Amino acid sequence: MAVQVRVAVIGSGFGGLGAAVRLRREGVTDFVVLERAGAVGGTWRDNTYPGCACDVPSHLYSFSFAPNPEWPRNFSGQPHIRAYLERVADTYGLRPHLRFDSEVLSARWDADELRWELETASGTYLADVVVSATGPLSDAKLPDIPGLRSFPGPVFHSSRWDHDVQLRGKRVAVVGTGASAIQIVPGIQPEVERLTLFQRTPPWVVPRADRRITAPERWLHSKVPPTRALRRGLLWGIRELQTGAFTRRPDRLGFIEAIARAHLRRGVPDPGLRARLTPGYRIGCKRILLSNDYYPALSRPNVDVVTSGLAEVRGRTLVAADGTTAEADVLVFGTGFRVTDMPIAHRVTGAEGRTLAETWKGGMAALRGTSAPGFPNLLFIIGPNTGLGNSSMILMIESQLNYLADFMRQLDVLGGRSALDARPSAANAWNRMLQRRMERTVWNTGGCDSWYLDAEGRNTTVWPGTTSEFRKATRRVDLQEYQLLRKVRVPETATETTAGAVR
Ligand SMILES: Cc1cc2nc3c(=O)[nH]c(=O)nc-3n(C[C@H](O)[C@H](O)[C@H](O)COP(=O)(O)OP(=O)(O)OC[C@H]3O[C@@H](n4cnc5c(N)ncnc54)[C@H](O)[C@@H]3O)c2cc1C
Repeated sequence: MAVQVRVAVIGSGFGGLGAAVRLRREGVTDFVVLERAGAVGGTWRDNTYPGCACDVPSHLYSFSFAPNPEWPRNFSGQPHIRAYLERVADTYGLRPHLRFDSEVLSARWDADELRWELETASGTYLADVVVSATGPLSDAKLPDIPGLRSFPGPVFHSSRWDHDVQLRGKRVAVVGTGASAIQIVPGIQPEVERLTLFQRTPPWVVPRADRRITAPERWLHSKVPPTRALRRGLLWGIRELQTGAFTRRPDRLGFIEAIARAHLRRGVPDPGLRARLTPGYRIGCKRILLSNDYYPALSRPNVDVVTSGLAEVRGRTLVAADGTTAEADVLVFGTGFRVTDMPIAHRVTGAEGRTLAETWKGGMAALRGTSAPGFPNLLFIIGPNTGLGNSSMILMIESQLNYLADFMRQLDVLGGRSALDARPSAANAWNRMLQRRMERTVWNTGGCDSWYLDAEGRNTTVWPGTTSEFRKATRRVDLQEYQLLRKVRVPETATETTAGAVR
């Protein structure tokens, strides 16, 4: 039998847990959090590779409403962030709402009943509102490499690290040079016999200002909360001030580029290797990576850098696009995630009987990164164009939680069974504004091919502004931007029956 709820939240990472806390604070308790895995944590549950850590200082990469004075380091590692999310689930009473092993297989809008019908691995749910918090970096992207099946050893993606595989004394190949790969390489280099890195494009890497947060600092943050707020405020403010260089004046990124070049010179004494590790595009075009041990690891004698993508696998022999070959016992893909082709989009069917993926054939787009026309009462957390190049995603998530809270209030005011469907004109205007602003950004002009861009070269992932601008844009739901759908009851016969929606 179907379970009926007011809200179904999909996913239990920062986005889903944040939504759950916010719903409870708004007095909404009739909701479930549907999670395909067996625990909360999302990104920070799935990514357990050696060296996995955050690139944003923890005092900013955490919920403003759930500060943690005990962060052990500036940039906390995965175990601490995961433990933090477990605590959030406990502290805010979210456990009764969590439904694990409940992968959402399909979500279909019922235009007569004005509600969503969700088929999950654990049963059917009927929900007035769906919050999709399935994460932008949650489904691994694995390249289709000819001959991969012929590889006799273990093969895994960075986000599904196989801890049963012993790497000591093995020849390991790592494919990719993104944020995960550059943490993995120094994490495993000391123990493997040989490490071959397949690099299509070198990243820009700057020093990581990481250190232990001292006991007196932690004491102060715990006993004098304004010091914690001050720390967070400074971390946030610096990043807000940097944003203009990414979005309007990429020429101003020259200063950071000089720091990155000096970092490369210090870390890689060999000029030949240094040349191969020097990016040929403007810094910031791809995500700027932070590491103090990536370059030194690449300079070790047991590491080879192949400056060409992996093109073919012939048993244990890996062949790069330029013909270079390497032998390996273990193959690790640090090849990123399905960002511009969200898997959940293929499973959500809207008012017109089309899936979100079909609707987004020409590229993902939403109103204020949060709702899509034809998909009433469906809100995304980290939807299209809400990603950041230089700050904490938690700030964006919290902005969308404000929007969700107001959305729920508006529905309450409307009363009865009602739904809000984003107007195409409003969504189009929003997306025209985004793409206009995108033209000047370093992501579009920096001369690189990045995961920020979709197959058509359109930037559908990043927010081209400051986090405060997005906060302002999502403070309230503007009803002018929505069509109101209402369920009317038509007494046809002796019994009342439903009669669809009016606009
Ligand atoms: C290694 C790594 C490092 C990162 N570092 C940073 C950083 O330094 N700074 C930063 O701002 N961001 C960083 N990010 C981005 C990070 O993804 C976001 O900051 C944030 O954690 C996203 O939270 P989320 O809840 O939206 O998604 P996720 O944490 O990905 O959670 C999504 C959840 O949805 C579940 N799910 C997905 N599909 C379904 C389905 N069909 N049915 C049921 N459940 C489903 C998943 O199992 C998962 O639990 C990093 C990401 C990775 C992978």
